[in-house]
Amino acid sequence: MRPVVVIGAGPQGLAAAAHLLERGLEPLVLETGTGPAASVAQWGHVRLFSAWPELIDASAKRLLEPTGWTEPAQAADGTVYPTGAEWIERYLAPLADALGERVRCGATVTGVGRKGRDLSVDAGRANEPFIVNVALADGTEERVEARAVIDASGTWTSPNPAGAEGLPALGEVAARETGIVASRIPTAEEAAGLDGRHIVVVGNGHSAAGAITTLADVVKKDPSTKVTWVLRRGTVGNTFGGGAADELPERGALGKRAGQAVRLGDVEMVTAFRTERIALVGDQAVVTAEDGRELPAADQVYVLTGARPNLDFLSEIRLDLDLRLQAPAKVAAEVDPNEHSCGSVRATGAADLVHPEPDFFIVGAKSYGRAPTFLALTGYEQVRSVVALLAGDKAAAERIELVLPDTGVCGGAGEFDAPAGSQVSGGCCAPAPQATEKADAQDDACCSPASVAPQPISLEPTAPR
Ligand SMILES: Cc1cc2nc3c(=O)[nH]c(=O)nc-3n(C[C@H](O)[C@H](O)[C@H](O)COP(=O)(O)OP(=O)(O)OC[C@H]3O[C@@H](n4cnc5c(N)ncnc54)[C@H](O)[C@@H]3O)c2cc1C
Repeated sequence: MRPVVVIGAGPQGLAAAAHLLERGLEPLVLETGTGPAASVAQWGHVRLFSAWPELIDASAKRLLEPTGWTEPAQAADGTVYPTGAEWIERYLAPLADALGERVRCGATVTGVGRKGRDLSVDAGRANEPFIVNVALADGTEERVEARAVIDASGTWTSPNPAGAEGLPALGEVAARETGIVASRIPTAEEAAGLDGRHIVVVGNGHSAAGAITTLADVVKKDPSTKVTWVLRRGTVGNTFGGGAADELPERGALGKRAGQAVRLGDVEMVTAFRTERIALVGDQAVVTAEDGRELPAADQVYVLTGARPNLDFLSEIRLDLDLRLQAPAKVAAEVDPNEHSCGSVRATGAADLVHPEPDFFIVGAKSYGRAPTFLALTGYEQVRSVVALLAGDKAAAERIELVLPDTGVCGGAGEFDAPAGSQVSGGCCAPAPQATEKADAQDDACCSPASVAPQPISLEPTAPR
């Protein structure tokens, strides 16, 4: 029997493999890193805002329990929120071990196609297996035949650049080569090493907020340290998250802490700054906006502007992707920050994830394309539903069993062009969250939790091959 190839041994790829095994299908997980969850490992020092029970897939748990694995309930710091490294150590690595040789590390997927047919050929297409091209760590290449493909490769490996248009700013590529510009969240140690320097953080989102709170601690210890937080949008808007209205309290708290750092003056925020150029000047970088504004020379620039799906290796697969988000079209309709209001997102399943190419699915963080609000919970529901469909269990595939927590955030990129300094928010409830007690109260009143109840979805069965 040909395997179902799963691209990526992150939280979602491993969960998909557990579901496949449970359904009697043979998974083969191909992971580019030297170990499982290589992307999570890169932000292993970051504490998650999801609690342990939200980070463990039900089928994976059933696979792990007979191995003597104990379900983690607490993180090392006594909270229920593990770091990325703990997520790997206490759940993802044991899960990869339980899957054994079905997980191959050092195996990078470089292409997916239909056997003997390129993108343009219709004849007999759906009856042919997939061909997956793999580049191995030893420099050799391999072709794997698959009955279905689940792409769970995430987006972390394709970070967005600093340039306001989504293109690298002039000089950005060269500046990245020196290390002065990087897309990573600094560890406490790395941040401490920047004391007395000028650090620029570009971006709006949870990763940027995390970097800001870490750097603000350095400013507290050494006030000669300068931190500048650059936003492309004209207003602070929902940069500080949903605060008390966020149904994930730690996610709300993260934004509040970042907002507090701005309010206390530990961090200077610059809005409506559309990065055009990053010029190296000696050991520093000068960041300039398209309106000519220039930031003081920086010793380190962290570009945390989100990430995008890598579609290069899917050029021969017929995809139904949204033009803006590069996410499966039906998922995009749910998560598009241009239209989305008040943080409530419907859980998505196989019916939202099908493409014109039968038996090919994009799941996990990559299924949200460029949208930033993906949660592991969402992905676990997606892989449950997709694998049920592959196993021919249409009823289970159609069932949506999850209600997602509300972010408490209203509006999105709609406020992009509002005048600098104004606090306008788009969407259903204004004003947007502010880093003040008063505003938090407003958030509570305005953005009361409004999670969307699960709806059954209609699904056409696919022919098993
Ligand atoms: C800083 C940070 C904090 C977060 N906190 C939370 C949180 O608290 N709660 C929550 O629910 N979510 C959180 N997320 C979202 C989080 O990324 C996901 O929940 C989870 O990691 C997504 O899993 P995934 O398997 O879809 O993608 P990933 O974790 O990105 O895994 C994808 C895997 O695919 C591999 N890969 C990529 N390309 C290839 C290729 N071509 N061939 C083979 N392998 C490939 C990668 O190496 C990686 O191991 C956070 C994200 C970040 C960045």
